[in-house]
Amino acid sequence: MKLITIAIDGHSSCGKSTMAKDLAKEIGYIYIDTGAMYRAVTLFALHHGLITDDGINEQALRKLLPDIMITFQLNEQTGRPDTYLNGVCIEKEIRTMEVSKHVSPVAALGFVREAMVDLQRLMGEAKGVIMDGRDIGTVVFPDAELKVFVTASADVRAQRRYDELTAKGEKCTFDEILANVLERDRIDSTRAIGPLRQAEDAIVLDNSNMTIPEQKAWLLEQYHRAAAE
Ligand code: C5P
Repeated sequence: MKLITIAIDGHSSCGKSTMAKDLAKEIGYIYIDTGAMYRAVTLFALHHGLITDDGINEQALRKLLPDIMITFQLNEQTGRPDTYLNGVCIEKEIRTMEVSKHVSPVAALGFVREAMVDLQRLMGEAKGVIMDGRDIGTVVFPDAELKVFVTASADVRAQRRYDELTAKGEKCTFDEILANVLERDRIDSTRAIGPLRQAEDAIVLDNSNMTIPEQKAWLLEQYHRAAAE
């Protein structure tokens, strides 16, 4: 079977990464979570005091951007890749509400997107890759052989994120998460550069009423079809 590029885009918290990670493991592809990359830049900006009530210190972030090294390393225990920022595993820190609250404005900055897109293209140039995000099928890999656009109702997405965070012991409310999911979608869809939108040739998957095994089977079928073409 030929090696292909798989682009999975869609709304916040709709389970893109779960399906993408599972498929990557099953077919031996590299999985790249591009949301984790924007989250890593946001964490770096927070650590350096570049995000305050007044907004983002864009000038300082632009200057410090070359100091940000983002890599992924397979976690032997989970079988999934963990995100590293300058050699330190930040997988837990980037999933907090604090980072979720600030990530979309950071991801809307043109110079941040430019740097991340360059890195993503480099990471995926050899094909055999599954990348999930917002602009993978439209901007990063417009020639991807398989493009999926995932969505689900906002309530379902917020509930999934709420369950995930509370299971990890983070204190949060359902309403706070719902508001964050909607706000991130709004910023992601309306930004000038690389906005969240469905590529014309993407297959749409609304997984509001699907179980994880059902989604997994659906995606595997799409992969087999695309790789055989
Ligand atoms: O996928 P995840 O929810 O972790 O992504 C976090 C944020 O990163 C998104 O809300 C979005 O603002 C940004 N993002 C992006 N482009 C991507 C992936 C994520 O702008 N390709």
